[in-house]
Amino acid sequence: MEDTRVKRITETITAHPDFPKPGILFRDIFSVLAEPSVFRDLTDVLTERARAARPAPDVVVGLESRGFLFGTPLALALKIPFVPVRKKGKLPGELKQVSFTLEYGSDVFEAQVGNIKAGQKVLIVDDLLATGGSMKAACDLVTSMGATVSLCLVCIELGDLKGKEKLRHPFDTIVKY
Ligand code: AMP
Repeated sequence: MEDTRVKRITETITAHPDFPKPGILFRDIFSVLAEPSVFRDLTDVLTERARAARPAPDVVVGLESRGFLFGTPLALALKIPFVPVRKKGKLPGELKQVSFTLEYGSDVFEAQVGNIKAGQKVLIVDDLLATGGSMKAACDLVTSMGATVSLCLVCIELGDLKGKEKLRHPFDTIVKY
């Protein structure tokens, strides 16, 4: 049976052709945040998916920046810590880094040492999986800190780009295009 909440979420996400550059169809998750009842549904469905993850996560990691919007309510609902993964230069203290390649050029993700501990089970959340490069880099960062990825969870998967094939860990999405 189709989940009416997922149907409502899917209908609320807007699409913007040729943004931020020609040829890209931008899926705008902010349209969900503008509808409180749909944002509530999305948070509830994400929480249900996270509760089904095995092994059960003991930390939620959110990817800069839209992963923060979904990771923080998720961590509160699960009553476990939220830890941000940010682009280079934005986090203070002792850091662990990972470099990754993008379509054009490269980037670096960082996390604060001590917030992700060896042996912990981590759920990584982002708004959208496209090529899978960001999610794979986050998995590499988490595992380099001695933790295990319990689930990679996104609101939207762009199936044509086959990003899921890059991941070596369980993956789940709420909406797939
Ligand atoms: P990727 O590393 O290629 O999987 O890209 C994922 C990241 O880029 C996510 O954090 C998204 O916010 C953003 N992104 C990539 N493609 C799109 C798109 N078509 N619409 C909206 N955001 C996108």
